[in-house]
Amino acid sequence: MPGWTEVGDRIYVRRYDFYDQNIGVVLGDAGVLLVDTRLSHRQASETLADLREITPLPVRLVINTHGHSDHCFGNHVFRPAEIWGHERCVTMIQSTGERQRATAAAALPHLAAELAEVVLDPPDRTFEESVTVEIDPGGRSVELRYLGRGHTDNDIVVLVADSDVLFAGDLLENDATPFFGDGYPIDWPGTVERLVELATGTVVPGHGSIGDRGFAVRQMTEFRTVAELARLVQDGRLDLDAAVLRTPYPADTALEPLTRALAQLRGELD
Ligand SMILES: [Zn+2]
Repeated sequence: MPGWTEVGDRIYVRRYDFYDQNIGVVLGDAGVLLVDTRLSHRQASETLADLREITPLPVRLVINTHGHSDHCFGNHVFRPAEIWGHERCVTMIQSTGERQRATAAAALPHLAAELAEVVLDPPDRTFEESVTVEIDPGGRSVELRYLGRGHTDNDIVVLVADSDVLFAGDLLENDATPFFGDGYPIDWPGTVERLVELATGTVVPGHGSIGDRGFAVRQMTEFRTVAELARLVQDGRLDLDAAVLRTPYPADTALEPLTRALAQLRGELD
C-alpha cells in the first residue's frame, strides 16, 4: 500500500516495501516528530521527500525505537533535529554500529555503497524509564516509555496519548517471524504485557500491518509460548526438535527464537 496512512489526528504511517518497515510521523503546529529513520541516508532522504506530501513543516524531533540499523542509520539526514532514544540505544549504536553496517552490506551487496556513506549519529537526547517530549514548545507532546527488555535491551514505545496511537517499534512485528537475534525472549512476554496495558487504540508495529490491542495480545501469547517451550527444553522435558514444531512460527524460522531463549536461561546474555 503506497503513500501515507493517517492512523490518528495528524498521525501518519508509511509502510515501505524494504524490510516491510513502518515509519511514523506525528505533526505539531510548527514541527514534525519522526519515528525511526531507515537503513541509509538515501532511504532517509526518500522519506524526507515523501514527508512533503503531508507537510511543509521541519522535522524537529526524531525517535529511534531501538539501535538496529534500519531504525537509526538515517539519523544524520534529519539533523539539526533532536534525536531521542533509550540510553542503551546509544551504547548499542556505538558498540555494534560498524558490525551492523558490515552485516547489512554483506547481506545486501547492492546497498554496500550507500551503507558505506552512513554517518553513525546516535541519539543526543536519552532517558531511562520515561520522558515526555514536546513537538512544539508548550504544544503537542508524546510520551516515550521503556517497558523492559524484549527485541533488544533498548526498545522504547512512543505513546501519542491525545490520539490513542502507540508506536511499538520492533517489540511487535506483524506478518513475519519477529527477529530474535539480539532479543531477550524470557523477558519479552512481560514487556509486551506492559505494552498491552498502554495499547488502547491503534498499535503500529516496527514492521508489517498496523494492528490493535488484540494483535498485541496475540503476540504476547506467542512470546510466552516461546519462553515456556525453552523452559521445557532447559528442564529436559522436551526435545529441541519437538519444541521447534510447537512454536507459533514456521519451523524454518523457529530455531533462533528457541536457541536465543535457551541462551538467556543459561545466563549467557547477562
Ligand atoms: Zn529491530
